[in-house]
Amino acid sequence: MNFELLANTLFPNINITEQELEERFPPRRLAEGAIVSRMAPSPTGFVHLGNLVQGLTSERLTHQSGGVLFLRIEDTDAKREVAGAVETLIESLGHYNINFDEGATKDGDFGSYGPYRQRRRKEIYHVYAKKLVENGMAYPCFCTESELEQIHMEQEKAKANFGYFGKWALWRDRSYEEIKEKLDSGAPWVLRFRSNGSIENKFKFNDLIKGQMTLTENDIDYVLLKSDGIPTYHFAHVVDDHLMRTTHVVRGDEWISTLPFHIQLFNALGFKLPKYLHIGPLMKMDGSSKRKLSKRKDPELALTYYKSEGFPPESVYEYLMTILNSNFEDWRRANPDAPINDFKFSSKKMNPAGSLFDNAKLCDVSKNVISRMSAEKVYSSLVSWAEEFDADFSAKLKKDKEYAIKILSIGRGGKKPRKDITVWKDAKAYMGLFYDEYFVKTDDFPEQFDKNDIKNILNEYICSDIEAADNETWFEHLKRIAEKYGFSPDVKAYKASPELYKGHVGDVSTFIRIALTGKTNSPDLFEITKILGKERVIQRIKTQIAKLGQ
Ligand code: GLU
Repeated sequence: MNFELLANTLFPNINITEQELEERFPPRRLAEGAIVSRMAPSPTGFVHLGNLVQGLTSERLTHQSGGVLFLRIEDTDAKREVAGAVETLIESLGHYNINFDEGATKDGDFGSYGPYRQRRRKEIYHVYAKKLVENGMAYPCFCTESELEQIHMEQEKAKANFGYFGKWALWRDRSYEEIKEKLDSGAPWVLRFRSNGSIENKFKFNDLIKGQMTLTENDIDYVLLKSDGIPTYHFAHVVDDHLMRTTHVVRGDEWISTLPFHIQLFNALGFKLPKYLHIGPLMKMDGSSKRKLSKRKDPELALTYYKSEGFPPESVYEYLMTILNSNFEDWRRANPDAPINDFKFSSKKMNPAGSLFDNAKLCDVSKNVISRMSAEKVYSSLVSWAEEFDADFSAKLKKDKEYAIKILSIGRGGKKPRKDITVWKDAKAYMGLFYDEYFVKTDDFPEQFDKNDIKNILNEYICSDIEAADNETWFEHLKRIAEKYGFSPDVKAYKASPELYKGHVGDVSTFIRIALTGKTNSPDLFEITKILGKERVIQRIKTQIAKLGQ
């Protein structure tokens, strides 16, 4: 077979040479050890936690090493493409501070190694497709769907392995004349790789996350170009990651099964093999067994879930760090206030089997992350969440920023900050007591006390110096009121002889707390009183007194 003739027949219009491409996309001039990696999503519109894990891993590895992270859009499957998907992806990742140095952007491509959208690289792929045909390593296949089905059925009957390979590969060894005749008839064709691998042969491969693996050679003549001339993922990956000078391919481990084919292709094209990092799946406990997070069953797989629930991106990021790097939590304990990028992310600390996702742990991390934020930061993040998901609340927050910040400052900043908010969705219930329209009384006054005592105490309280200068003076008033109505001002004294009292000062503050906040548990009552202000305190308490009177 004259392979050169075949190559020219199949690709008559290729005007660029491989050499020209090598010069157009020269090796990057980066410092020793700098990593070049990429995100290469398909624009399906669904951005999930797996994308974020992959993005975060490559972002950390590249930027920590002074390297380059780029975004390549793998749009070879036009059927799955959704309008606006690229914008959604860039926005979603940007929300988590994953930003690209080059690649596809909202306004076109940026960088000198593009185009960064695969459908615009058709001619580039054809240069290499032609080269493979010239070297006898690729051939056209004219099999129809039904012929392929036929092969499958025969393989089933013969108990052979499935796939287009060896003697089953109908077009692998056809003559030039046969091919030419088919081409002239206008029959559609795909370009297939002519594999020289054998499944009898195993080889060792070192993955930077999985460690050393034993792989089986590929013997399948996989498709390189589809009938519209657009490459498959496999072929595009090899050509793109070579020309874009990727040093590390970070991707999901579902690609390990076709890795032997990718390695074959790098070799067949004479390209240097990049390093590979195959990330294990995200799993969750389902009863007593683990399973992969699923799009159908688990809303928490979609990134939109975290946004609408109101998980701050910092919480999700921090949580992912805890499940991706086994030493992260120890580091965080030792450096509670350090910026997260001070942590040295390492692929060696990743679990080769994947990570276990646990919503309860995420909530716990989120509480801590929010508790460490300044009131101003909480305010601005909460407002931007509410603008999108709770317009009424957002309007209230914006109407009096200073007031909202006072509320959010309660119990913040000390060694043991309060942890009332897990997600922004919680904030309204927590802050609601400070806004009359949101105020709801959920807890009743404890039943064991006489209604008249409660009423008297509440009455006395509003006549007292509500706006005491400090917590101590304010509490002195409470003690005095307690004593006046037969409640012990000292909890210890009460416990020693409960029969002498109706209750103690703690009960007195509970009455006031319930009247003011509607709940038995609340942040510091003095702080609340100060923020609500005398007038509102009096008005709330009067309302409760009136109700008690009924
Ligand atoms: N388009 C592939 C995917 O979305 C990319 C895999 C890779 O990163 O190479 O799974």
